[in-house]
Amino acid sequence: MDRRFRGLDSRLIHAGIETRLLGAVTPPIFQSVTFERSDETTRYIRLSNTPTHVALHRKLAEIEGGEAALTTASGMAAITSTLLTLLTAGDRVLAQRRLYGGTREFLAEDCPTWGIGCDWIDATDASAWSAALRPTTRLVYVEAMTNPLLEVADLRSIVAFARDNGLVSVIDSTFATPVNLRPLELGFDLAIHSCTKYLNGHDDIAAGAVIGRAALIERIAARLARLGGILDPHAAFLLDRGLATLGVRVRHQNASGLEIARFLADHPTISHVSYPGLESHPHHARARELFDGFGGVVSFELADDRSAERFMAALALLTAAPSLGGVHSLVMRPAAVWGTRLSPEERARLGITDGLVRLSIGLETRSDIVADLTQALGA
Ligand SMILES: *Cc1c(COP(=O)(O)O)cnc(C)c1O
Repeated sequence: MDRRFRGLDSRLIHAGIETRLLGAVTPPIFQSVTFERSDETTRYIRLSNTPTHVALHRKLAEIEGGEAALTTASGMAAITSTLLTLLTAGDRVLAQRRLYGGTREFLAEDCPTWGIGCDWIDATDASAWSAALRPTTRLVYVEAMTNPLLEVADLRSIVAFARDNGLVSVIDSTFATPVNLRPLELGFDLAIHSCTKYLNGHDDIAAGAVIGRAALIERIAARLARLGGILDPHAAFLLDRGLATLGVRVRHQNASGLEIARFLADHPTISHVSYPGLESHPHHARARELFDGFGGVVSFELADDRSAERFMAALALLTAAPSLGGVHSLVMRPAAVWGTRLSPEERARLGITDGLVRLSIGLETRSDIVADLTQALGA
């Protein structure tokens, strides 16, 4: 891309495309498994090096400010392929305690079967990290904001701690997106996204990405080619199309997030709202320093625990469904969706109460979202 045009929104539209085939403004999908050998390169779909993959990887690297990028079949494929490349039997991970459920379970249940251990830290408080460090610790893993309570880890200290102790630093930046946070500029080695969420943004594909130092991405790409969890070219095309509008979507969701968080905080039926953009959030100052916006996910606690199901059932525009970051406003009750898989102690540790509701604000008319919440909260 022409170096004169460096704004994020310009890159989201133009980056990655080097030549226009037959003048096509929108690049075609190379829906081909294999390619005639020309130079020394073998192009094959599972190597994630079709022209469709290559252009998308270049765009992802440019928008996240990394040397290289790799896409995968889902966010979990990006996470598991990365960890299974960087860790071997005997190694340990330092991981943030309230990670995304799939990641937490992979570290707690799958990794030990291959001899990979995990030590859990409160990533918001640097004072306890040294005590959790062991001679075999290789990697530190955090998220931009935790789910569903939107805790903001001390990301700058995590990077410094990783440097001081020779650890690879990995962040799942799904909740922030490159619009709100540039973790590689902070010094993280790798940034991971579930592109299923904001990056694609239309609730119609599963995809993942890992972006960062080229030497690491090359190793992960080689292992992914054997593990097999690659992104299909048609989904790659849709992800590229979704990315073009990421800037306008996320800035709108930031504005809606703040407005709706304030509305909920003032509502008499709600006892607590978790949103890093609110002054009442315990990590508000840190969030303001790190992020350009706070995203479209807001969690809140109904004062009357037993009213949560009634509230969910009364919603008309908002849909009761998991996932987040897309055009549809979605609502879920963590205790109902994840509660059955967690022990009462685990639920308490993760802050999941019966009255907790997670809202992902989409792109419907803001006053319609507020009107639907108002009528359902009165139900
Ligand atoms: C959804 C999500 C994932 C998993 O992504 P999939 O695309 O569903 O595999 C990982 N991390 C975070 C923070 C997520 O929200």
